[in-house]
Amino acid sequence: MAEIVLKNISKIYDKGQRAVSDFSLHIHDGEFIVFVGPSGCGKSTTLRMIAGLEEISEGELWIGDELCNYAEPGERDLSMVFQNYALYPQMSVYDNMAFSLSVRKVPKDQIARRVDKAAEMLDIKHLLNRRPGQLSGGQKQRVAIGSAIMREPRAFLMDEPLSNLDAKLRTHMRVELAALHQKLGATMIYVTHDQTEAMTLADRIVVMKEGRIQQVASPAELYSRP
Ligand code: ADP
Ligand code: ADP
Repeated sequence: MAEIVLKNISKIYDKGQRAVSDFSLHIHDGEFIVFVGPSGCGKSTTLRMIAGLEEISEGELWIGDELCNYAEPGERDLSMVFQNYALYPQMSVYDNMAFSLSVRKVPKDQIARRVDKAAEMLDIKHLLNRRPGQLSGGQKQRVAIGSAIMREPRAFLMDEPLSNLDAKLRTHMRVELAALHQKLGATMIYVTHDQTEAMTLADRIVVMKEGRIQQVASPAELYSRP
């Protein structure tokens, strides 16, 4: 089982400002968790601490039965998808997707099989020889998601992955993300300020305010109340 457990996690910056305070959450294997809350409430900081991109000031992060506070990002068995795609502009789509496996010396034929499978799933097979600059926003985000699934991590961390897309594409990609989550069965931790995304994607929504958890509830519980 690969549960992710956050125990009383806080982020305190150098000058003593608290970005996140006493954040505790038990995320079940395969669960779709969505963080919502006003800008500056600590959603990204929490996600980045889970990813290992930001140091945890206090508390414990457990992934499965390992304490991961000090694990390198690449050792956490997680993949992060960013709002701005984070693709290598000089590399082809194929090489972008292959990159995280080639640096780990995964055999080329195995990489080719995984790229093929992921590209098929995301409908980007016809784009493999292009460079990111030759893609639309939606295509870039598919490639970013494709790159993230290559390592077959047990969890995905997504920071507003659809917010750079226009409304129509956002709706389309939201449906695809839900399907992808079903197919992969991986845990998702997802940050958004879009209420529709939170409602339709989440198993549980974590409402944050001023660095703290205000409420954790299912979409039905959260939005049926007055
Ligand atoms: P959200 O993702 O919910 O918009 P963030 O996690 O980005 O919020 O930010 C949480 C808080 O941490 C904000 O008040 C922000 O200004 C603060 N913060 C972020 N980075 C730093 C930093 N390097 N030094 C001090 N405060 C920071
Ligand atoms: P990991 O060590 O987790 O396998 P990757 O090899 O997948 O990491 O990528 C290394 C880091 O570089 C990731 O955080 C990735 O998002 C980031 N990255 C990818 N493309 C770019 C880019 N064009 N510019 C800056 N950073 C990038």
